[in-house]
Amino acid sequence: MTPTTDPAALVAEMSREERLSLVRGERDPEGTATGYLPGVDRLDIPELRLVDGPLGVRIPDRPATAFPAPLAGAATFDPSLLRRQGAAMASEARAANQDVLLAPGLNIVRVPQCGRTFEYYSEDPVLTGQCAAAAVEGIQSAGVIATPKHYVANNQETWRASVSAEVSARALREIYLPGFRDTIDAGALAVMTAYNGVNGTPMSDHRELVAGVLKEEWDFPGFVMSDWFGTASTVGAATGGLDVEMPGVPPAEMGGFDPDEDDPFAAAGDEPPAGLLRPIHEGMPDPRNVGLFGESLADAIDAGEVPSERLADMVRRVLTAMDDIGLLEGERPSAESEDDHAELATEIAARGTVLLENDGVLPLAEDADLALIGPNVEEVTQGGGGSSETEPLEPVPTAEGIRERASGSVSVHRGLPPVETPSFFDLLFGAEAGVADDESVDIDAALAAAERADAAIVVVRDWVTEGADRADLSLPGKQDELVERVAGATERTVVVVQSAAPVEMPWRSDVAAILAAWYPGQADGAALARVLYGDIDASGRLPVTWADAEDYPATEPHTFPGEDGTVHYEEDVFVGYRHFDTAGIEPHYPFGYGNSYTSFAFREVEATGLDALAVTVENTGDRAGRAVLQAYVHPPEGGSERPVRELAGFRTVDLDAGDRETVSIALDHRAFASWDGAWTIDPGTYEVTVGRSSRDDALAIDIDRNGSPLTTSS
Ligand code: BGC
Repeated sequence: MTPTTDPAALVAEMSREERLSLVRGERDPEGTATGYLPGVDRLDIPELRLVDGPLGVRIPDRPATAFPAPLAGAATFDPSLLRRQGAAMASEARAANQDVLLAPGLNIVRVPQCGRTFEYYSEDPVLTGQCAAAAVEGIQSAGVIATPKHYVANNQETWRASVSAEVSARALREIYLPGFRDTIDAGALAVMTAYNGVNGTPMSDHRELVAGVLKEEWDFPGFVMSDWFGTASTVGAATGGLDVEMPGVPPAEMGGFDPDEDDPFAAAGDEPPAGLLRPIHEGMPDPRNVGLFGESLADAIDAGEVPSERLADMVRRVLTAMDDIGLLEGERPSAESEDDHAELATEIAARGTVLLENDGVLPLAEDADLALIGPNVEEVTQGGGGSSETEPLEPVPTAEGIRERASGSVSVHRGLPPVETPSFFDLLFGAEAGVADDESVDIDAALAAAERADAAIVVVRDWVTEGADRADLSLPGKQDELVERVAGATERTVVVVQSAAPVEMPWRSDVAAILAAWYPGQADGAALARVLYGDIDASGRLPVTWADAEDYPATEPHTFPGEDGTVHYEEDVFVGYRHFDTAGIEPHYPFGYGNSYTSFAFREVEATGLDALAVTVENTGDRAGRAVLQAYVHPPEGGSERPVRELAGFRTVDLDAGDRETVSIALDHRAFASWDGAWTIDPGTYEVTVGRSSRDDALAIDIDRNGSPLTTSS
């Protein structure tokens, strides 16, 4: 008899022991995977290896392409780049014998202090959803299972394992869930639950949101795994819809950890590392939380607390996902291990760099003599700390990339001691985050070089990590002072900010240009050189509002990081620009903002259906450039309380000097709708504006929605 590969038939043939072996992680005998399921030899079911993460494939001692932070990816407003990144990461995962990527991460940037903002895309659900869906398509196109995470409302790291987000059904539906819905529509085959609870129930056990919304309403066919040590119970999780417990074994038995070490997750103890972050141990899950889907699940089934069909369903879902990528047939597309993804990583980092200010100093003249100053310019600013740390394959430190591109002289000075960027795993063992004490720096030499140069490029950075939130938004150490002093030495000061999210820039109006480069990944210097010299247009746009910390919502302790185990999402749907617009607060730079090296005129807009626009745009400058068109829906007067505007669609278009083009922009239905137990569109006239940012209404058109059908259901 030929062995079957039909998931349901396979489950029917499996013993209970075999079924149980596929719902709880084990130690990977190869020691490469972050998570591992053993397979069933007897039935030709292969092993399943799961690997981190969103910025690149993370395997100990195995370098991989280190892509820019997803937030930088979102700043491209070009999901096609994220599709290509997904496919590239997946091909590297395949070449390393991994089957599941624990990516993309797509939690909404609710507070800029969150330690994982860099791993996520945006404060806006439409931008988030389009980026995450593209990442899923890319990953799975290369025969690897994608894992949208962390479902849902994992918007902070402080007490992430225990805090419950008190959030309304409306905010969940309008802000926090849509991105996940988009990944399911894109065919995602796995989902990871968040550590936190929502409205009192841990997400691993959240029947309403997991069994209900994700599986029943959205028809998700794949499997739901817990975050690492994030399974809260046996019966609650199994009946709530969780399918797989990860990692299933204690830290000492996981790949990448030394089994002789004491429990690494507890090592930070009561003496948290001092420095820039809230204590990291507050964000750690309890590593004793293992084995909930082991014998205890068997017992719960025997006791009638978990139906045995539930176990069959869990396994069927794992096998369905494996089958979908050809794993059961052994037919996956071959891995393109030879491909070099360095160019793609450079392109994304460059396209995601946002030109916040420019008095004309940029792009640099070809022969400009430069002073390059910054505490970490001899390194790459790869990413933040945590499970997304990748060992870069081809790092191009800032200084190296600039030196390679420059025709004029480049005088390099650190100016200050480097901002330390310890690995998350070192932090767990008690390393300190902070700024090094290094006597050898010479600020005077840096200032003298700045005075002599045609332009001074000052590169500053922050550092954040999974497991902790930023205490504030200021740059670590004396970097603000360094910028001020260089700006005092030359009017031609360009500041490059490499950060996880917005940071305070008290020197904002004293410098000639500012670039937000986020965490650029291994391509750091190569990507920056492209933007500085104008080898490409500056076309990055802000995926988050840039403002002072106190102007964001959630500034009271009970709204962030929470009190008594609960964080209240009192701002409801008014997150990010929805808050700034509605409250009438002027941010430093609004959502969607960014300058180009050329200029664009937005000529005409036409509605080509209820949900599509045709927009004509012209490059009116004297160099080629990339226009980023953004369409926002404004609700009619008198309806329910709604944000002033909501992003409904966007599009990038490359135009030579003088060229014009008419492009179509698809509008997301949900921008017209609001949730009140179901999606509804208030009848009336909706103004749709198209412009360069959320605060630019270059073109406007009215769209009547009088009882028009809504094609999306949830
Ligand atoms: C993170 C996940 C990650 C997992 C495995 C957890 O701490 O929250 O994003 O995939 O570890 O490394």
